[in-house]
Amino acid sequence: MATTVTRELRPGDVGYEEARHAWNGAFDRRPAVIRQPESAAQVADAIAFGRQEGLAIAVRGGGHSVAGHSTVDDGLLIDLSSLRSVQVDPATRRVRVGGGALLGDVDRATQKHGLVVPAGHVSHTGVGGLTLGGGFGWLMRRFGLTIDSLVSAEVVNADGEILRASAESEPELFWGLRGGGGNFGVVTEFEFAAHELGPEVGVAFVLYPLEAAADVVLGVNAATAEAPDQVTSFATFMTVPPAPDFPPELHGRKVVAVIAVYAGDSAEAELHLRPFRELGPILLDGTGPMPYLALQTMIDPSAPHGLHYYTRSHFLEGVDAIAQPLADAFDEVTSPLSLLLLGWAGGAVAEVPSTATPYWHRDARCFAWVVSAAPPHEPQEVHHAWVNKVSVAALPTARGVYVNAIANEGSERVRAAYGGNWDRLLAVKRRYDPENVFRLNQNISAPS
Ligand code: FAD
Repeated sequence: MATTVTRELRPGDVGYEEARHAWNGAFDRRPAVIRQPESAAQVADAIAFGRQEGLAIAVRGGGHSVAGHSTVDDGLLIDLSSLRSVQVDPATRRVRVGGGALLGDVDRATQKHGLVVPAGHVSHTGVGGLTLGGGFGWLMRRFGLTIDSLVSAEVVNADGEILRASAESEPELFWGLRGGGGNFGVVTEFEFAAHELGPEVGVAFVLYPLEAAADVVLGVNAATAEAPDQVTSFATFMTVPPAPDFPPELHGRKVVAVIAVYAGDSAEAELHLRPFRELGPILLDGTGPMPYLALQTMIDPSAPHGLHYYTRSHFLEGVDAIAQPLADAFDEVTSPLSLLLLGWAGGAVAEVPSTATPYWHRDARCFAWVVSAAPPHEPQEVHHAWVNKVSVAALPTARGVYVNAIANEGSERVRAAYGGNWDRLLAVKRRYDPENVFRLNQNISAPS
C-alpha cells in the first residue's frame, strides 16, 4: 500500500545538489528525480512512480558503489538514507538494520551491548550494498562474511510487494540476496545474528618499507596459514600520509601496512599476532589492544568522499608468483592517495560451501584490490594506467572477482564473480525481477 512521499528532490531544489553526489566523484550524474523514502511502503510507491514514468531506477544504500551504480543521469534515484535505524535485541542477539544504514551506525549500536555484526573496513560504507555483495572485513576468518550472519531481509520487489526473505520464507530470494547484489528488489531492513566481541580487540599494525614488500607479503601469507581463525590479516601498499598519526620522517614514504586483527580472548592476542611483526625491518609498530569502534574507523580517512576513484580487483590462488611483481608495479604509483590492498580469506569464509550463497569464490586464498584516488582536477588517465598495470601484475594467480569490487568491466566479469552459481542466480532474477527493473547494478541477466 502506497503512502505519501515525504521527500522528493528535483534539479534546482534545495538539497538536490548534495543528494545527487555519491562517494565516487568520478560519476557526476544528475537524476531527474530523487526520492528519499522513510518506509517500505514509500519505497514501493517510488518504484511504482519510476516504472510509470519510464525512468531508469538507481538504488542507493551508502552510496559507495565503486562502479557508480547508485547514481543515474535523468532517471530516478531511490536514496535510502532516511532508513538508517538500528535496533539491537541483546537477549536474542538479533539486530534489525535499515536498508540505508552505514556500517558505523551498526557498530555503534551493537557495541553498546558487547556485540558485533561482521562487516567492512570503512565506517561510512553502506550496509546495503556491502551485505548484498557478500561483505568481508576485519573479522571474516572468525565470523565469516556479512551474509553469513544475515538471518532475514525485508524486500520490496519490482511490483511493490513487501516480502520477508529468510531460510523459511521465500528461500530462493534469501539465497539470491546473499551475494546477488541489488538485482531482486530494494531491501528496506536486514536482520542479522550478532556475535559477542569487544569492547577491545587485539590489533597488529606494522609499517614495513616497500623495498621489503615481497618478503612481507609472503610472510603474511605464511603467518596467516599458521594462525587460528581468530586472526584476519591484510597488507596494504600505500604512501604514508602527512597525518599526525605518523612520524614526520615517514610522510610521503611508500610502505606496506600490515594489519592483523585477533578476534578473541585478548590475553592470547599478543602471541598470535607476533608473527605479523617479524616480517622485515619495521618502520612503525602500533600493535596493541584497540577499541573495536576505533578499529572500525581507523582507515576512514584513506577513502574520503568526492575524489575520483578507479579500481581493479581479483581473487587470488596464492601470492608466491606475484609478490615481487606487485611490489614493482606499486612502486610506480602515480598518486599518494592510491592503494593496493591484499586480504587473506580462509577460516570461516571457506567453511561455507560455495553454493550455499551466490558468493562463489569462498575458497580463494586471498584477493587483491588496487584503487587509484586523485582529486577531480587531475587528468585521470595516468592513474587508470597505473591501476591496470598493477592489475596485470596480479593476473598469473587471479581467478574471478568480488562482485562489489567490479568497476564497469562488462557482463563477463559479473559472471566471473559467480562461477557455478550463475544459472541459479539467473533463475532467481527471472522469478523476482523478470522485467529487469533493477538493472543499474552488477546486473544478472541473460543475453537476449
Ligand atoms: P551503494 O552505492 O549505495 O549501493 C551499491 C549497489 O548496491 C546499488 O547500486 C544497489 O544496486 C545496491 N544496494 C545498496 N543498498 C541496497 C538496498 N538497501 N537494497 C537493494 N539494493 C541496494 N566491501 C567489503 O566487502 N568490505 C570492505 O571492507 C569494503 N570496504 C570498502 C571501502 C570503501 C571506501 C568503498 C568505496 C567500498 C568498500 N567495499 C567493501 C565495497 C562495498 O561493499 C561496495 O562498494 C558496496 O556496494 C557499497 O555499498 P553501499 O550501500 O555503500 O553502496
